[in-house]
Amino acid sequence: MSNGPVPRPHVLITGGAGFIGSHLAEACLAAGHRVTAIDDLSTGSRHNVEQLMADPLFRLVEDTIADPSTLGPLVEACDTVVHLAAAVGVDLIVHDPVRVIECNVIGTQAVLKAAVQHGRKVLVASSSEVYGKGAGAPFGEDDDRLLGPTTKSRWCYSTSKAAGEYLALAYHRQQGLPVVVMRFFNTVGPRQTGRYGMVVPRLVAQALAGEPLTVYGDGRQSRCFCDVNDVVRAILALATCPAAVGQVVNVGSTEEVTILELARRILALLGGDGATDAGGLLARGLIRLVPFESAYESGFEDMLRRVPDIRKITLLTGWTPGLPLDETLRRVVTWLAPARLIPGRPAEVG
Ligand code: NAD
Repeated sequence: MSNGPVPRPHVLITGGAGFIGSHLAEACLAAGHRVTAIDDLSTGSRHNVEQLMADPLFRLVEDTIADPSTLGPLVEACDTVVHLAAAVGVDLIVHDPVRVIECNVIGTQAVLKAAVQHGRKVLVASSSEVYGKGAGAPFGEDDDRLLGPTTKSRWCYSTSKAAGEYLALAYHRQQGLPVVVMRFFNTVGPRQTGRYGMVVPRLVAQALAGEPLTVYGDGRQSRCFCDVNDVVRAILALATCPAAVGQVVNVGSTEEVTILELARRILALLGGDGATDAGGLLARGLIRLVPFESAYESGFEDMLRRVPDIRKITLLTGWTPGLPLDETLRRVVTWLAPARLIPGRPAEVG
């Protein structure tokens, strides 16, 4: 008796032409999977997946996740959905909160409903923003959340991502939908655009343009930046981990760096100014401190620290982040440097 060929796993990536989505699509194809990406190209771009277009196992559907007549058949045709589509970026959050709420809550509900209807597993991207402005570090998945008032649009992103988590967990509990909630901390790498307020590509683009690096606040706020390739490895590990179903899982690096130090390291990479400390770079005008209020909205609040507790994902899957920040920064510089010469590429941020 012939068993016939084993069918390829088919992954549907919402937001598949975005930063993380395009890297995930590449990794899935490299693993021999079929990949369908649905993306409305609002913050993503065809350019991110251009190198995949000739692959017969890849398909990009340029559409919104909000239309069930498009989404339903795509979900039905796949084995697993990785739901990354979202309205993201501090600029967007502050200036277009309606879009943020509609996309992240109603869009996520549309994905979950289609998954319930067709019995498909869903990995839902959430964010460390759900922890809000709590000062505790590192953040564990069951820690309390501390948010500002609803009159500050700053907090609508956090709330919209938390609503997505609630929806995913509720569909799991009430309808048995297999879900995994992935709480990403800051993720960086090539193809991330600085247009919507992401700090690493924005600072690298400024450094490449020979402009002062603008650091908001006093620059002492710290973050942990995880390389996108590590995040993609985490997604793939969680997708095949039965014990992760129904769980909320932090995904991030534990290498903590202040934004001032980040700016110093970027300048050191590009200009050989590594020996100069951040204070010296400030004094020489190579780094400029800008109050949050002038960049965003009055009363804008930022978190002092944002460090993940990653014991849960390590216990579940064995995953730990691998690439050090300096290597990731080098890759971002390599990606953005030639892009500066091509009009329309993401490097015209600044
Ligand atoms: P991104 O903006 O590059 O990706 C989001 C993608 O979703 C974009 O390609 C965009 O065009 C698409 N999209 C938005 N609305 C859509 C809609 N209605 N229909 C179809 N497509 C739509 O951002 P990213 O950094 O790749 O983020 C991916 C996911 O990871 C998001 O859910 C985000 O909240 C989460 N996340 C990212 C980070 C990070 O540091 N990059 C941190 C925490 C959480």
